[in-house]
Amino acid sequence: MSDLSLAAFESIIGSENVVGAADPPILIPSNENHLSEIIRKAGSDGVKVIVEGRGTFPAPEPPGKSVVVSTTSLSSVKEINSGDFIIITQTGAVVDDVVREAERKGFLVPLDITSGDVATVGGAFMTGAFGLSAVGYGAFRESVIGVRCVSPNGDILTGGGRTAKNVTGYDITRFLAGTMGLFAIAFELTIKVQPVPESRVIVTARFPAGMKSVNAVKKLAAGMKNMTMFEVVAPEGLGGIVTAAVGIEGMEKIVRRSADIARDRLGEAGADEIHDEKRETFMIKRRDAVKNMVGKDFLTISVPPSSSAVLMEKMHACSETMPVIVHPAIGRFHCVCKDDKVIRALRETSLSVGGKHPVLWDTIMQEGISGLFTGAELEIALSLKRELDPQNILNPHLLKI
Ligand SMILES: Cc1cc2nc3c(=O)[nH]c(=O)nc-3n(C[C@H](O)[C@H](O)[C@H](O)COP(=O)(O)OP(=O)(O)OC[C@H]3O[C@@H](n4cnc5c(N)ncnc54)[C@H](O)[C@@H]3O)c2cc1C
Repeated sequence: MSDLSLAAFESIIGSENVVGAADPPILIPSNENHLSEIIRKAGSDGVKVIVEGRGTFPAPEPPGKSVVVSTTSLSSVKEINSGDFIIITQTGAVVDDVVREAERKGFLVPLDITSGDVATVGGAFMTGAFGLSAVGYGAFRESVIGVRCVSPNGDILTGGGRTAKNVTGYDITRFLAGTMGLFAIAFELTIKVQPVPESRVIVTARFPAGMKSVNAVKKLAAGMKNMTMFEVVAPEGLGGIVTAAVGIEGMEKIVRRSADIARDRLGEAGADEIHDEKRETFMIKRRDAVKNMVGKDFLTISVPPSSSAVLMEKMHACSETMPVIVHPAIGRFHCVCKDDKVIRALRETSLSVGGKHPVLWDTIMQEGISGLFTGAELEIALSLKRELDPQNILNPHLLKI
């Protein structure tokens, strides 16, 4: 930050919105025009811009002459439209706030991510986050039908719109989802919502000898009517006590029937305790349990859902004590693992069933997006970056070019 003058940025957003003492300095614009002016100024002064929501994803080292542009003051929900079934929100709004505000009006935003109490909706969109209920509602990106953003040359762009049937033209919204702020800073999202379901039940089960939970995975991974969530959590490893939770939502009559089936299948799989839990209580409890596991040794593996039981058995064979979280119905696995031999074995199994390379949080923190993308994905991202952001202004620390 040595030869970086903040005066020009202060004249755009006011000195009260510049945290000059931070390294890199933090700029907090409160509207899109300021955002656009900041990007233009950064471009003309050769300053790099690190885009930040709430910073729950710990980024690699920032580049030399840089500023952080924070979306935290772009945090209002602008419209909840019950006729169009949409919410229009600024991207700096906190996930849980948006979800609660929608719920108060009778709408469901399917975004129950672990860091929802702090993370922004813009961050969730740009990281391609999956909520717990992805089994029923898909990844968050599937609910985002419009985006407004500032491009690397400071232009304000609009993609998509108020209707899901906005199908003509280039789909900027889909393009930007999961791109980690490399190609634009999003300042507004249009999210498709649906009515809060009549009934929402969570059936939880305890498995005393952990590996019995794989039976539950075999019985339930293919899903059942109105299942929106299926999670298996083993904080002490698959050799210890494991809990499984099945979420079912929809019309009360159907939910009651599906919940009975879930209880039966969990019982047949060997659960020694099964009960229904209030959604709010369950969410708080599992968020605490999962947050304790997230850190630099946190590993994510994605396999086709039909191979979830295979990978789970492999994880158990590799270690009885390794903390594990499994979302079998979408084939998403997390574990806490420092052992290279185990990581290699899991990679081999994942690739052999058509899954992806394991992604270690530590590697993302060190190498940015090159630790996240496959070789082919990275090549495409690099060439797009050269075209769309030739000065490499936005988030250059995530992509070494
Ligand atoms: C690759 C990845 C996948 C994740 N998947 C999941 C998941 O499936 N489930 C889950 O519970 N948690 C997931 N997380 C963790 C957590 O949900 C996200 O880190 C969180 O949603 C990010 O919100 P944030 O406001 O803290 O964003 P930050 O941590 O501040 O930013 C995250 C990334 O998004 C960019 N970004 C943020 N806001 C904007 C914006 N408005 N415009 C452009 N770029 C922006 C940043 O530059 C950065 O690259 C994931 C994290 C990462 C890194």
